[in-house]
Amino acid sequence: CGIIGIISREPVAGRLIDALKRLEYRGYDSAGVATLENGRLTRRRAEGKLSNLAKLVETQPLEGTIGIGHTRWATHGVPNVTNAHPHATKRLAVVHNGIIENYRELRAELEADGARFETQTDTETVAHLVTRELDRGASPKDAVEASLKRLEGAFSLAFVFDGDEELLIGARRGSPLAVGEGEGEMFLGSDGIALSPFTDSIRYLEEGDFAVLEHGRITIYDEHGAEVTRPIKRSGGKS
Ligand code: GLU
Repeated sequence: CGIIGIISREPVAGRLIDALKRLEYRGYDSAGVATLENGRLTRRRAEGKLSNLAKLVETQPLEGTIGIGHTRWATHGVPNVTNAHPHATKRLAVVHNGIIENYRELRAELEADGARFETQTDTETVAHLVTRELDRGASPKDAVEASLKRLEGAFSLAFVFDGDEELLIGARRGSPLAVGEGEGEMFLGSDGIALSPFTDSIRYLEEGDFAVLEHGRITIYDEHGAEVTRPIKRSGGKS
């Protein structure tokens, strides 16, 4: 329902949760964040109010300087901690807004290929699909690009990768996603409101776009994989 992602040189968990608060108006049943702690993917997830997640992160702090966060409005799988995003494999964590319509077929295919699912969500198929591409030797960008071609439905997605503190990937199809550039930091979010306290340099992805965020650089590709530019919307400006 709500997505946020940050690459920084400072710990990001506090700002991930603050950004999720600004997306609260959309409604949600659970929330979570994932950061890289010494390079390893680490998640904190909680049912119910964002204050539950905030308390959890207070008692089990996260120091990672790259991360993603999500507020979930369950469509597939009951609202509980296991089904709360981010979903993860040993290679990556992903947050997702919307619905993967063909998740049943994909899940059957991936399970037949040895993937072990932990949740009832449609989202987890995306985690395993991209993981399979990575295991076959694809780069994260190529793995996401190949996986997007297999997905049906309306969604937006954001990924972080185990062992890579320099990389955040977002994708948009039928559900909004914006990317923003700050002072030595990069952001992505499902809504300009989530990003506006961090930067006034915001670009909205267009239908089918995906974006690769690294320190100092955001590269946007269209649905055919061609590099594209999208206009910056300064806050206060008309879109
Ligand atoms: N379909 C996903 C789920 O049920 C994402 C829902 C959302 O947009 O929050 O977990």
